[in-house]
Amino acid sequence: MTRFLGAVFSFLTLVGLLGAVFLLLTDDVLPPEWDPFVPLDVTDPVTPVTSWKYQAALSGADECLAALETGANFTVLPDFTHNDQCFIQTQVSLTGAGQADVAPVKTRCQTALRTAMWMQHGVQPAAQELLGQGVKQLHHLSSYSCRPIRTASGASNQMSTHATAEAIDITGVTLDDGRRVMLLQGWQSSDPNVQQFFRAMRDTACTWFRTTLGPDFNRLHADHFHLQHTGWGTCR
Ligand SMILES: [Zn+2]
Repeated sequence: MTRFLGAVFSFLTLVGLLGAVFLLLTDDVLPPEWDPFVPLDVTDPVTPVTSWKYQAALSGADECLAALETGANFTVLPDFTHNDQCFIQTQVSLTGAGQADVAPVKTRCQTALRTAMWMQHGVQPAAQELLGQGVKQLHHLSSYSCRPIRTASGASNQMSTHATAEAIDITGVTLDDGRRVMLLQGWQSSDPNVQQFFRAMRDTACTWFRTTLGPDFNRLHADHFHLQHTGWGTCR
């Protein structure tokens, strides 16, 4: 009898534990931003689980497009091929990212998703904190361009990541009140908050992109941040 009661007790404990695990994995108990089984939502707060979800979203076309739906305005375009060095896979026309408008730019979904996460979690909070308002429009110099890398000493013989739309060049923003703040004038602005804002743009881009180049990198980047989907963490 004691053994029988012991077995019943063990069984009930097991059921209870499984129930607790099940409850933890349902959205009602575990917030979605903490649940590794819920795909990335751009607008969710950032948690230690976010980077895992982010990598999963960047890993494939369907995953990327689903994640982009949650925090950007875009239309899906067919894949584009100019030649074997110049093409756009998982092509989208991006028109908004992280609560800001974007002049339509044809790019790769992964570049668009990185831009949306950066806008949502880097640029918008920095603008609120340093400039007291949000960003209404993000300005860019496009993404796709079939050309070699430009270096301070001329063109290289290696193709730019722009040739596969794996990079986007950002020049500045228009704030909610209509004020335009651009990198070329803003990097050394007489307003310390504007200076800090552009440094915050650069630093937060390093979280959401794998290569970030700005005015501190070389003079070719005096007027734009080069933000790249690929790379080994260069952040200057
Ligand atoms: Zn660039």
